[in-house]
Amino acid sequence: MSQMTVDDTHVQIGLREDEVARALDGIDPLRHLPASLNEAALGFLGWLGAADDSVPTSCAHCGSPHFGEARQVSGVRRRVYYCCRRCHRRFHNLTGTALRGLHHPHLWRAYMSLRFAGWSIPLIATHLKISHHAASRWNREFLVEMQRRAPSLHDWWRTHQRREDLTMPTALDEQANAFLRWVDELVRDRSRRADTPFEKLAVEEDWPTFARMLIHGSSDADIERELSMNHFRCARWRRRFEAVIEIRWPLLHSWSRWQRGRRYRAVRGKRRLEESLTDDPALVTLPALAN
Ligand SMILES: [Zn+2]
Repeated sequence: MSQMTVDDTHVQIGLREDEVARALDGIDPLRHLPASLNEAALGFLGWLGAADDSVPTSCAHCGSPHFGEARQVSGVRRRVYYCCRRCHRRFHNLTGTALRGLHHPHLWRAYMSLRFAGWSIPLIATHLKISHHAASRWNREFLVEMQRRAPSLHDWWRTHQRREDLTMPTALDEQANAFLRWVDELVRDRSRRADTPFEKLAVEEDWPTFARMLIHGSSDADIERELSMNHFRCARWRRRFEAVIEIRWPLLHSWSRWQRGRRYRAVRGKRRLEESLTDDPALVTLPALAN
C-alpha cells in the first residue's frame, strides 16, 4: 500500500492522447464477454469515449430542450456551461452523470477496455499512468453508468467479477471442454504422457478436478484444500497445466487468470499477485505466479 502511495505522486499525469492506441495494442475488450453482450459493451465503451465531447440535447435538471450557452464567469473554461430557459439552472454535458468531476477523459474508454479484458485496477493505474485512487474511483463511477445504460452487461459483469456466476461464454466453454477432454485422455492413456512435462506427475486421478478448478480461477489454497495436496505439488501442477493452456487455449488462459485474480481479490492479502496478473508476457512469469 505504501508503495502505491509513493507511485501516486508521479503516475497521476495520465497517459498522453497519442500514447493510448499503443497502450491498447493487442487488447480485445470483448474477449471474455458473451457474444450476446458485445453490442452493449461496444455501446458503453463508445459512450465513455465520447461523453466528454458530447453536447446535451436537454436540460440535465428538468429535461427541457430549451437552453442556451451560459455566460462564462471568468477566464477560459474548458467545459461549456448551459443555462436552462425553463428552470434557469446551469449544467454542462456531464451534469447528472457519474463522470462529473473525473479527470483524463481521453483515458476513460481505454480504462474500461482493460477492465473488460480482465486487468486489475492497480495494473491499469500503472499502465495508464493514473493514480490508484483515481483508478478505484473510475471503477465505481463507471459501474454506476454501466448499470444505468447497459443493465444486462452490468449484471453479467458484476456476477463474474464477484465469481458468483462461474459460467463461461460459448467460445470459452468450448475451449474449456477441449482442455478437459485433453486432460481426461492424458489420465486414461499413459502413453500420451511420454516425453511430456506430465510424465512424472503423480496422482493422475486428481488431474480432472485440478484442471476444472484451475480454469475457474480457484486459488492455490482452494485447490490444496479440495485435493488435500501440499503447496509444492499444487504449484508444480499449475505451472505445467498453465503452460499448455497458454499455448493451446489462449482465451481460456486469459479467462482463468482474470477469474483467479478475482478469487485472490476476494480473499484479500494477495495484492502483489493480483497485480502480476497481466496479459503482457514480459510482465509475467509462470513460476513467479505459482509461488
Ligand atoms: Zn431546466
